[in-house]
Amino acid sequence: MSRPIYLDCHSTTPVDPQVLEAMLPYFTERFGNPSSITHAYGWEAEAAVKQARQTIADAINATPEEIVFTSGATEANNLAIKGVAEAYFNRGRHIVTVQTEHRAVLDPCKYLESLGFEVTYLPVNSDGLIDLKQLEQTLRADTILVSVMAANNEIGVLQPLTEIGKICRTHQVLLHTDAAQAIAKIPLDVEGMNIDLMSLTAHKVYGPKGIGALYIRRRNPRVRLASQIQGGGQERGMRSGTLYTPQIVGFAKAVELGLSQMASESQHQLQLKQRLWSQVSQLEGIHLNGHPTQRLPGNLNISVEGVDGSALLLGLQPTAAVSSGSACSSTSTTPSHVLTALGHSEKLAYASLRFGIGRFNTAEEIDKVAKEAISTIQSLRQANNFSNTSHSLHRL
Ligand SMILES: *Cc1c(COP(=O)(O)O)cnc(C)c1O
Repeated sequence: MSRPIYLDCHSTTPVDPQVLEAMLPYFTERFGNPSSITHAYGWEAEAAVKQARQTIADAINATPEEIVFTSGATEANNLAIKGVAEAYFNRGRHIVTVQTEHRAVLDPCKYLESLGFEVTYLPVNSDGLIDLKQLEQTLRADTILVSVMAANNEIGVLQPLTEIGKICRTHQVLLHTDAAQAIAKIPLDVEGMNIDLMSLTAHKVYGPKGIGALYIRRRNPRVRLASQIQGGGQERGMRSGTLYTPQIVGFAKAVELGLSQMASESQHQLQLKQRLWSQVSQLEGIHLNGHPTQRLPGNLNISVEGVDGSALLLGLQPTAAVSSGSACSSTSTTPSHVLTALGHSEKLAYASLRFGIGRFNTAEEIDKVAKEAISTIQSLRQANNFSNTSHSLHRL
């Protein structure tokens, strides 16, 4: 039996063969600890880390001293949010974020609430975008941090970071962005966008799992941060622990590859997405979730009327690896917090499919999945005696 077609690239991506090739020597002959300063094994690992740090800094228009390697975006988000809260609580205890953020932002915020911080969770409109006026009105004298993601992991929506950065800078509030889904997919510029902290990860962009980074601004303003993991003092004391050289090398290679082919890859994914949408939207009662154009090129998220969400996923399972809601919450029976934030009823939010199209997908695969999705929906609806007059809401 052949394996299902992989269309879940917001959950994770395969390691690009060129990335794996770059990593391999650092597991075996170049295995040194980058902190070992007394011999050549350490020096060559240190040189590799230094080069990788430069590549990642360049990718977001930062300097290498502003990059701290972490185990991924979850850890980077925790370090950014808790680290700022701990360093600035004398100045204020108010944090602003958005209802549609990833759990790795929402949960540290919840934790801080339990310690006495106050968090405002901004709503989004039916397209998934925040209201900039509302953001500005929410800022107070005691607001120490705004955290707004660059690209949403469920609906792919891109928040207007440049405008958000301007507002935060004007009010002298630090801006953190979770860019796990955005790095090497859309242009990111911490200077042009006035971003003070940015979380990154490798495994959404064809790099290995278990590695990411936090960008921490050093000038205008210099961001203070309380470390969350103490030990050997690596990463200038901001994140102790022996650096994971092979993963760091792979992360940099993945980012380099992604940047070098960003335009062509966007085009490829956008075409495949339109190909998929033009087929499934022939059916009635299919809703596009999220802004029709201001979104990641490879993301298609739909809600389907007249079917049960789990039956739909089950029906598609042999053909396509897709998800409903986010991977982290797909085992739970509560609907996605992102889709309910768009104003969907629980039932519609639950009957949703997230397609994450990636670098290695082909038009034939898309056609096969579209055909199967349509027939699965039709047969489920027949069983439910579904009839509906509402047509698909959006055009891409
Ligand atoms: C995947 C993801 C994370 C978690 O990243 P890890 O590197 O797996 O810890 C955080 N935020 C967003 C938006 C993501 O898509």
